[in-house]
Amino acid sequence: MEKMGQIEVICGPMFAGKTEELIRRANRLEYAKKKYLVFKPTIDDRYSTTEIVSHSNYRKNSICVKSSSEILGFITDEIKAVIIDEVQFFDENIINVSEWLADKGLRVICGGLDCDFKGNPFKVVAELLARAESVTKLNAICNVCGQPATRTQRIIDGQPAYEDDPIILVGATEAYEPRCRCCHMVLKRDK
Ligand code: ZN
Repeated sequence: MEKMGQIEVICGPMFAGKTEELIRRANRLEYAKKKYLVFKPTIDDRYSTTEIVSHSNYRKNSICVKSSSEILGFITDEIKAVIIDEVQFFDENIINVSEWLADKGLRVICGGLDCDFKGNPFKVVAELLARAESVTKLNAICNVCGQPATRTQRIIDGQPAYEDDPIILVGATEAYEPRCRCCHMVLKRDK
């Protein structure tokens, strides 16, 4: 009997080890001699356009795609699992693509941020979490107090970002760090 497909989501803030967990599951697929493919959206070119790389420098070859529907063009009968990194940056069709692959009997393993720097859910990740058979929510460590961190703090020129700061700020120094609920700050402007 063919094993049933399923959707697995690994989520959490930045620096929680999400990519490391994806790579751990990829290694287990290799031990089991199951063929898999790794995808990520082209928007992420932090270190490399052909690999996913964890903060502790583990890496796997990956295919960069511009849209979720491109993933289907790479799927052959021998592929038993699909790993998707930075899934929050995909278009909404990634939900249909994931469901279709899982219905066909593949394991679909998605990793990504559950919330943006304001603490609001990414829509596609929220929907995948609801549809998934398996959910792993990872914590980081709060950079301020050392408690488990569930949020990503955006910092611009050394200060917490305002809620309406543009995504790309020319000339500003921008950083992200993990924070807990208490230490996470989103500044609001006086109206
Ligand atoms: Zn804290």
